[in-house]
Amino acid sequence: MDKQFDVAIVGGGPAGLSAAIWLGRYLHDVVLIDSGDPRNWETRGVNGYLGLPGIRPAELRAAGRDEAKRYGATLLDGFVVRARRESDDRFVLEYDPMPTTKAEQDRPGPGTPRRPEDNEPCEATRPVVARRVLLAIGLKDVWPRVPGLEQVYGDRAHVCPDCDGYDARGKKTVILGLGRKAVGMALNLTTWTRDIVVCTNGEPLGAEPEVEAKLAPLGITVRTERVTGITLREGTLRSLQFESGEALGCEKIFFAIGQYPADDLGAQLGCARDEDGHVEVDDVYHTSVRNVFAAGDIVPGPQLGIAAAADGAIAALAIHKSLVPEERKLKRRHAGEEVKPHRVRPQRADDARGEDADAAAPPWQEPSPSPSGATSAA
Ligand SMILES: Cc1cc2nc3c(=O)[nH]c(=O)nc-3n(C[C@H](O)[C@H](O)[C@H](O)COP(=O)(O)OP(=O)(O)OC[C@H]3O[C@@H](n4cnc5c(N)ncnc54)[C@H](O)[C@@H]3O)c2cc1C
Repeated sequence: MDKQFDVAIVGGGPAGLSAAIWLGRYLHDVVLIDSGDPRNWETRGVNGYLGLPGIRPAELRAAGRDEAKRYGATLLDGFVVRARRESDDRFVLEYDPMPTTKAEQDRPGPGTPRRPEDNEPCEATRPVVARRVLLAIGLKDVWPRVPGLEQVYGDRAHVCPDCDGYDARGKKTVILGLGRKAVGMALNLTTWTRDIVVCTNGEPLGAEPEVEAKLAPLGITVRTERVTGITLREGTLRSLQFESGEALGCEKIFFAIGQYPADDLGAQLGCARDEDGHVEVDDVYHTSVRNVFAAGDIVPGPQLGIAAAADGAIAALAIHKSLVPEERKLKRRHAGEEVKPHRVRPQRADDARGEDADAAAPPWQEPSPSPSGATSAA
């Protein structure tokens, strides 16, 4: 408790690691606490990351951790359960050390399954004190209740058309989802394929008539039967099965159900959040709470590995600036010159994931994917 770090980063994905590297280069004393359950762990490769096409999440993480350590960052494997602000210049985080994590062992499957009661103080809980906090905790995806889906997740089943639409070129593609979100994702995927069926898994589509009307002219059909499983042949996805026994040929699945913050630390610190739980930030990723920053998927905007890394770098520069004492800075020429209004980064109008998150999850949805584990501590 005696040691005070300059910066504590929660989350060791692209956003957190990139920030740790930059802050280390500014010679700050940085601690990064990570529970080792990155959102994209099951994907076969990270697409569109400049210079590293198709790099595996584990490789990217390992390289980032090595680089952060080279610049002196302290990396702790643990789950931050509580965060509080004692003053503008002093924050206390409490974390439970984790002897092993999913990422540590480079394995798929539940990473840090935690229930709310897991966040009660325990003997192992340790405090970390820092002058600045960066939340880079990411998001979790809500999964449809389709038996067997985890067998193809990250390979044939995806959540992000931006990331994986290219590999659906000309393929028989099924969207699992409801409402405007499912329609948006189907329209989004027409960039790459015209063989698209929306499956609602036993529910009505639930989109406004003018939204649903977009589908038929593009040859997109809607199936409302319950989906009871998937069929693989030689390890490859071949079809979905309906309750009636009928099969629907399918090579790619995208699901558009919903997502939620990986943890409630933003709420604990009193950061303003949008209706989806994203932490609101300004241009340099400063939240509404002085000296608390947030970066990566947890803030509104594009959800891409390279964008998360860029967020982390920009936040790091701002954090550094906030730590430089006044005597080493030039005064602003005009009062208020550098003060930027707090703003919420705009959601893209056509974002198939972000738009119209259905507030109440229908009965066939479950809030935590079996492969990625349930980490919500809310
Ligand atoms: C299946 C899938 C495939 C994807 N494919 C691509 C792709 O091809 N290209 C691309 O650019 N993007 C892709 N993405 C998106 C990309 O993975 C994310 O945009 C990126 O990982 C976000 O980085 P992040 O650092 O914000 O969060 P994450 O990478 O999710 O990292 C967050 C970290 O915070 C940790 N954490 C959370 N809460 C706590 C806590 N309380 N205490 C300690 N640690 C905590 C987690 O364990 C995790 O390690 C994909 C996403 C998914 C789900």
